[in-house]
Amino acid sequence: MSNLVESKGIILFSKNHKEKDKLVKIFTQSAGKMMFFVKGAHRQNNPLTPALLPFTEAVYIGDFREEGLSFLNNAKDIQGFRKIQEDIFLSGYGTYLLNLADAAIDDRVYDPHLYHFLHQALSLMNTEVDAEIITNIFEVQLLQRFGVSPTWSHCVLCGQTQGKFDYSSKYNGVLCQNHWSADEHRYHADPRAVHFARLFSAISYDKLQEVNVKSETKDQIRLFIDALYEEYVGIHLKSKKFIDQMKSWEGMLTKKEE
Ligand SMILES: [Zn+2]
Repeated sequence: MSNLVESKGIILFSKNHKEKDKLVKIFTQSAGKMMFFVKGAHRQNNPLTPALLPFTEAVYIGDFREEGLSFLNNAKDIQGFRKIQEDIFLSGYGTYLLNLADAAIDDRVYDPHLYHFLHQALSLMNTEVDAEIITNIFEVQLLQRFGVSPTWSHCVLCGQTQGKFDYSSKYNGVLCQNHWSADEHRYHADPRAVHFARLFSAISYDKLQEVNVKSETKDQIRLFIDALYEEYVGIHLKSKKFIDQMKSWEGMLTKKEE
């Protein structure tokens, strides 16, 4: 055990391995994502247990290997994102963010910017800020990690920055209303949804305060981002399906209250 390394990290997921052990995927700040083998993770009073819970950041200490499994020996400065851990809706959104971050980069790729971005998103979700909006911002800005960089700031054809916009995959960006005719296969998205996606592409979580978006507009934003992800990313995560289902439960709950 001479080569112990320590790094801050965020738990991405964990799964049981045989009866007593666990495999835990951690996004480490200093060495990217890695799979750790944790021996005796199910042993009572294992000091590592609180550091392995979903939605936890800690300093993880272990043998970080260049290939194969790494090994976790200890953890300190354990910080749980408590509200997310305790709320089924928030943990639905939170799991989706973790899965997206996991899908967006390869293992062992040092990416402190994505680490910071994920940490900010989870920290905000752990407060009162709207989880759906935090998720949408995450999705729009993460497109870059999937190799997609749409032009959001202005019409691709004339540079217009004001007015109604639609999205065109032919031009890999937004078109102002005067240029909608340039692409008959433009998305025909709700202009309010495109407006918010443009805003989300440039906003920083530091500056994000309460954003008030009507639920009808949120539905349109969801459809628009789904179309972008379907076209450019093409991954189908269980956690995404889960949040879509949650939205319909929410709908049922609100209807009953009326
Ligand atoms: Zn234009």
